[in-house]
Amino acid sequence: MSDQSRVRRLTGFAGYAQADAYVHAPQSLDELAAILSHSEKVVLRAGGRSYGDAALAPEILALDLAQLKRIIDFNESTGLLTAQAGTTLDELWRFALPRGYWLPVVTGTSRTTLGGALAMNVHGKNQFKVGAIGEHVVRARWWTPSQGWIETDADHPDHKNLIGSLGGVAALGEATLKLRKVESGMLSVTALRTGTWEESLSALESGRQGQDYAVGWIDLFAGGRGLLHFAQYDPHADPATLQRERQDLPTRVMGIPKSQVWRALKILNRPGPMRLVNSLKWLLSGREVGRTHSQSLVGFSFLLDYVPGWERSYAPGGLIQFQPFVPKDSAAEVFSRLNEMQLEAGQVAHLGVLKRHRPDEFLFSPNLDGFSLALDFRVVRATEQALLDLLHRMAAIVFDYGGRFYAAKDAVLTSQEIARMLDKETVERWIDLRKKYDPEGRFTSGLIERWGLNRVS
Ligand SMILES: Cc1cc2nc3c(=O)[nH]c(=O)nc-3n(C[C@H](O)[C@H](O)[C@H](O)COP(=O)(O)OP(=O)(O)OC[C@H]3O[C@@H](n4cnc5c(N)ncnc54)[C@H](O)[C@@H]3O)c2cc1C
Repeated sequence: MSDQSRVRRLTGFAGYAQADAYVHAPQSLDELAAILSHSEKVVLRAGGRSYGDAALAPEILALDLAQLKRIIDFNESTGLLTAQAGTTLDELWRFALPRGYWLPVVTGTSRTTLGGALAMNVHGKNQFKVGAIGEHVVRARWWTPSQGWIETDADHPDHKNLIGSLGGVAALGEATLKLRKVESGMLSVTALRTGTWEESLSALESGRQGQDYAVGWIDLFAGGRGLLHFAQYDPHADPATLQRERQDLPTRVMGIPKSQVWRALKILNRPGPMRLVNSLKWLLSGREVGRTHSQSLVGFSFLLDYVPGWERSYAPGGLIQFQPFVPKDSAAEVFSRLNEMQLEAGQVAHLGVLKRHRPDEFLFSPNLDGFSLALDFRVVRATEQALLDLLHRMAAIVFDYGGRFYAAKDAVLTSQEIARMLDKETVERWIDLRKKYDPEGRFTSGLIERWGLNRVS
């Protein structure tokens, strides 16, 4: 195995967290199990789409599970689909949609794999309505150091602990998802423009009623104004839109080949131009407001795939995404305060995305009865420390108000900070799970070390 392993620089999606590791890509579940049973320490990795250090660690074996991508079974009458852990959301929708099914939960990129999705218990723009992906996992097969392969379903006491266990206890081999039946590949989308934080939050709250999806783009340079989108599955659209070719994203953006657009973004990716881009987006959105239009499921869901490699526009420093989840009654106060702090510090997020959430029972879940705000900050070496100081000050306020953070997006929080959101019950669940399935702490990651989860006992 070692001669096939290579030392490679691994980065989080955002290019900020990095580590050199020995990378090996198992070609089958049997090979994965054989390697795991002989390894001392490993980090699991799949699509590499987590923003921080969840899928990397220095100088250990990184198992890249991206080759384990077989769709094993599909039942057209029940919508139950079983696939291996390395299968991406892109591969899943391409298989399912022509058969009249859509994924119950998707992330903003289609490059996420099933393994990464379950490890982080990912959510979509419909979390307020259907919960995170774990709620749609009927069965899952995991490899654990103490028991080898085990299978869990909703009745298994550890199902909701292994889902969301951050790749720190078990390796997902395959999972069965319950897909959603759809009559067409289209959504009816309505846009609404807002002027302040209060308006953005209350409009997202009232507008989501009766809708399948709700999401808001927020202009942080202008103090919380935004553009909200609400969408519903459209049962009346042409069934031919279920075909893949009716879903594929355009190959050009404003006449520029998609593969080159990140270069244009790189020129704009500085505070002055980004202030202008945000203003223009808000002003031009006036044309969309109040009208309902039809949009493909892929176009609406995987907005961030329109410009492949857009994250390279943040090079060389990369970007840090900071996504606080805040209870609904304090969200306006907390988000506007975080926004003021950014304006005062002269470090304003270039992009802000607002979502509504409902609570769930998965391990380390950030989901609560409230809102999340994903903020993208450009890292410039000269001002990196000032940015980190700002993020830690903002995190303190989020915790003061009972807020939480999401592991897949975090790259900066310390174990002392994270301790403020981990209640006794969560810590006990984690300790029990590790004792039962991975007593020697074979699975690790930069995130697990940084959050101090390898040290709790
Ligand atoms: C542009 C963009 C948009 C995004 N939008 C959203 C969003 O809308 N909602 C959301 O929730 N997240 C979102 N994310 C985050 C992303 O979905 C998660 O980080 C997800 O975990 C990435 O999956 P991956 O396959 O890339 O896994 P990696 O990033 O490679 O790994 C993520 C974690 O999963 C573990 N892991 C991987 N495979 C396995 C396995 N087989 N068994 C056990 N553990 C495993 C790893 O150890 C690591 O801890 C977004 C990310 C990007 C880049």
